[in-house]
Amino acid sequence: MRLRLRPAPAEHGIRFRRSDVGVEIPATLQYLGGQDHATTLTHEGVSIGTIEHLLAALGALGVDDVLVEVDGPEVPVLDGSAAPFVILLHEAGLRPLAVPRLYIKVLEPIEVVRGGKSVRILPADHFEVTYTIGFDHPLLRHQALALRVTSRSFTEAIASARTFGFLREVEMLRQGGLALGGSLENAVVIGETGVLNNKLRFADEFVRHKILDAVGDLTLLAHPLLGRVEAKKAGHALHAALAQKLLATPAAWELVPRPGIPTLEKGASPAAREPDLRPAEA
Ligand SMILES: [Zn+2]
Repeated sequence: MRLRLRPAPAEHGIRFRRSDVGVEIPATLQYLGGQDHATTLTHEGVSIGTIEHLLAALGALGVDDVLVEVDGPEVPVLDGSAAPFVILLHEAGLRPLAVPRLYIKVLEPIEVVRGGKSVRILPADHFEVTYTIGFDHPLLRHQALALRVTSRSFTEAIASARTFGFLREVEMLRQGGLALGGSLENAVVIGETGVLNNKLRFADEFVRHKILDAVGDLTLLAHPLLGRVEAKKAGHALHAALAQKLLATPAAWELVPRPGIPTLEKGASPAAREPDLRPAEA
């Protein structure tokens, strides 16, 4: 499969184009298809799957307008992280457009709770994600992390965190025809006693990847966010449900212009600086 990023004018938004069938799908909640293990967009019976890691890179690096061409039904999974997409964007170079960016500023808390899982968004003057995970597995009883999401913090602390899956689920995923989580090359596979394939990139790579997924799914709001997201044991479906509930609650947000358009000229490398990263409260 081939993926190509094409420049787009202001107010074009992020759109996918299935070049093999000639259908364009805007990356907005309106076109949300499945969210089982990965996030899919559907339009006119045509789908594009596994969009969330690319969307996370686009959203975190402040890319509002781009045409993403893919000649098949899935964005390449690559190594299961967003790092290859961040590198691609650095190579392509980014240019600010002569229009104000409109942010979604959260005014009131919005929450979605399903069983023991929850996600909410609270007012804040920047975009921050706090994530807590806990699985019935000795390696993953509890991990938590809070991150103020910027182009730099995402590039340094989040982008390279890979998808993970449990060995017991791998066969299930394969039977479902999903590559994601089903291959030893593009996911961290957790067996009964530990990680089966290669070394972890961070001790808490798992929770970092959950933040990556949340940033990607929330990019479907089609505007950058000013708000603090707090997720507990959530996933794609809950991230999307939060975004939908937020949009459906007009009193909970307003659109505000903000200066300070991120720039990333061709050839620029991410500056070396400690990301704004801290452990979340348990
Ligand atoms: Zn993911």
